[in-house]
Amino acid sequence: MCGGGGAVAMSVIGASGDPAAGGVKAVADVETVDREAVEATPDTAPTIGIDLGGTKIEGIVLTADGRTLVKRRIPSPREDYRATIEAIAGLVGWLKAEAASQLPGPARVGIAIPGSLAPATGRVQNANSTWLNGQPLQSDLTARLGTPPRLANDANCFALSEAEDGAAAGARSVFGVILGTGCGGGIVLGGRLIDGPRGIGGEWGHNPLPWPRDGETPGPLCWCGNSGCLETWISGPALAADHRRVTGADISVEDIVASARRKSDAPDVRAARSTLSRHASRLARGLASIVNVIDPEAIVLGGGLSNLPHLYAEVPELARPFIFAADRRIDLRPPRFGDASGARGAARLWRTHRER
Ligand SMILES: [Zn+2]
Repeated sequence: MCGGGGAVAMSVIGASGDPAAGGVKAVADVETVDREAVEATPDTAPTIGIDLGGTKIEGIVLTADGRTLVKRRIPSPREDYRATIEAIAGLVGWLKAEAASQLPGPARVGIAIPGSLAPATGRVQNANSTWLNGQPLQSDLTARLGTPPRLANDANCFALSEAEDGAAAGARSVFGVILGTGCGGGIVLGGRLIDGPRGIGGEWGHNPLPWPRDGETPGPLCWCGNSGCLETWISGPALAADHRRVTGADISVEDIVASARRKSDAPDVRAARSTLSRHASRLARGLASIVNVIDPEAIVLGGGLSNLPHLYAEVPELARPFIFAADRRIDLRPPRFGDASGARGAARLWRTHRER
């Protein structure tokens, strides 16, 4: 294939007029393209990974050894299922065109989705992008792309990516957590993603907050219909909502964190620190319940809240009283690939065994 060339920085800005973009409106983004020669046989050919998020769709072309050939991020259509299909198809078309010389034969496309496919019906379930729920996403994408994509829950793709060559590379058992607008989880054992016959392997966000304390029951009403789900306590919006309930101050997670870091003993600073402490305690209890069931070698945090450094110091200590073992340590790690792990893991759906 084409030879030579190392990493080349390429900027694609406002490329909506580009015929190769397939009508996709691009947002400003800087991309790194590695055009080093790739041996493109069917087994080692690069694969396409798409991460369908609530606000953006990220696409990459990933080589078998984990190099990104090309990537792009576009806005996610909201509340519009057909527009979502078209946006994904446009992005896949653009990626295929960009990496055409290194993608022999039909492109292999993996897609990380919010929620999951119900194995019995092939329809989306449990997505907090609720306009996807009940839709036959797999068959509609197969018709639109002309080739069947592999779909998996976004937290599962995150866990797969971080277990394969990310923060938990080398660990035999990995629990991956996404703490963002929601709260997802994924389990990888011996390199295999655990999906389960219901398609909910690794989901933990809609279990109740364990070892509840005064004021924590029944807990906030969750969009799933139950009350007190972990997601209503430990996601980003849940952290801000908890601060609002306790203090009356309606401020963002970023402002809560900034306030807690101020060198001051003012009431609002102490209140922000208390909010972060309650959140860390709840996350610790939630993770302890996972450790007591699957005993993972490593736990990797992803999503927006994984950028909070205090979690890695405090959560393992706060979890200790709840670990049912003589060795009460847990190995909690920040992600290596962060936001990119959804798309990287999706591309890896073609290189992994999945257990049902
Ligand atoms: Zn719930």
